[in-house]
Formats: sequence, structure tokens, C-alpha cells
Amino acid sequence: MPRAEVALTVEVYTALSSSGWAARGVATRDLARDGWGRLILPATHVKGRLRHACLQVARTLGLPGCGAGRAHAPAEAGECPLCALFGAPGYAGTLRWRDLPYRTPGPLGAEESPGDHVPPSPAVVRGGLALSRQRDIAAGSAYWRPTTPPLSGQPLQFGHPAAITGTVAVAGQLQLLLAGCRLVTGLGQGRSRGLGWATVQATALLDGVPLQADPHALAVLRLNGSTMSGEVAP
Ligand SMILES: [Zn+2]
Repeated sequence: MPRAEVALTVEVYTALSSSGWAARGVATRDLARDGWGRLILPATHVKGRLRHACLQVARTLGLPGCGAGRAHAPAEAGECPLCALFGAPGYAGTLRWRDLPYRTPGPLGAEESPGDHVPPSPAVVRGGLALSRQRDIAAGSAYWRPTTPPLSGQPLQFGHPAAITGTVAVAGQLQLLLAGCRLVTGLGQGRSRGLGWATVQATALLDGVPLQADPHALAVLRLNGSTMSGEVAP
């Protein structure tokens, strides 16, 4: 199977709230961080957003593919383009996904180990209040959510030169992933409140050769998927 390596760069244009772990203080959770204290976009979160975006692409184009959480027969899972990329219950998939650390804006390099050059990753706490859309009144008590500070023009950049690595059965699967990346408009929590508006740029290598995004190459997934039973999206 061809070897795939995908570099991801995420630019975030509004304050970001990424779910981390329990914190002390007024907010119950901190932003997601790695061992160096850098902010990260967790691989599981990026993967979930991209799976949803790729499913939208597949449904629009009439390609086979199922929503998250559907269990396949083991022999079939690799043939469903969505589950081949993102895995499914009982099927880990053939790709490894990595967290995307916060980085100093610029082109992605080969080394991503920060050593002693860790960009500062501050957080602020915002208050919020849930409102009832039917009754126009407060629907609960106030909550506190840590986010990155308001931005002063320059977007926050997250990325990894080998964010996704592994093998794919056909190049069309990687094309589906590239198409899905272009659909993502936000990451993190609170997107409907204006947090985490973002774009995702992906560059893919297939057996070491750059893969150009080509929507026509997605047609191969329709042919591949026709052998599967009951997986064609409505
Ligand atoms: Zn599937």
C-alpha cells in the first residue's frame, strides 16, 4: 500500500478554546497543552473535525462512507473511505494522527521538538452565560472557559510536518482528506460564539511524491466502494 505523509498547518483567527484537563482556579479545565506547556490541538479533536468534513464531501459527491461510530465487518472497514482514513469501532485504521502544537508562525520545518525554544502560550479566562433561545432568558448559571487571549492581528498557528502518517489503499482516500481540510472553518469549542475560527492547510506526500489536490481523483472511491454492502450514503 502507498505510504502517506500529511503536513497540517492550522491558522486560528479568533480566540481558541481547546478542551484540556482539570485546572485549579475559577475555570474547571485548562487549555489542551503538551509536556512542554505548549498549547496543542489534540489529534483526536482534529481527527473528529476532519472526519465530519470528509463525510460532508463524500455525501455531496455521492461517495460511499459512513458516520462516526459505525462498526464494519473487519474485511469491509478498509474499503469504506471514511473508516479507512479515520478508523472505526474495532478497526484502528492504517494512519497515525499526531497532536498539532502551537508554533511560531512560518513554514513547517522537519524538527518540531521545541527544546528550550518554547513559544509562550498564555491563556485568559472568559465568562459566559447560556441563554434560552425560546425564552430569551438565562438558561443556567454562568460558566468560565479558558481561551487564548484576543488576537492582535496575527493568527495563531498550529502544525506538524508529519501530522498524519501511515498507508492508504488508494490515492483517492488522501484526496478525500485534502478536500475535507478545505471545508473546516473552525476548531475547538464555542465556535458558534465566535471562538476558534480557523483554516486548515494540508500538503500530502504519497510514497514521497507531492500529491496535488484533484477533485476528479475522488471518483475512484465510488468504484472501490461499490463492492461494499449497505455503505452508500443516501
Ligand atoms: Zn465506514
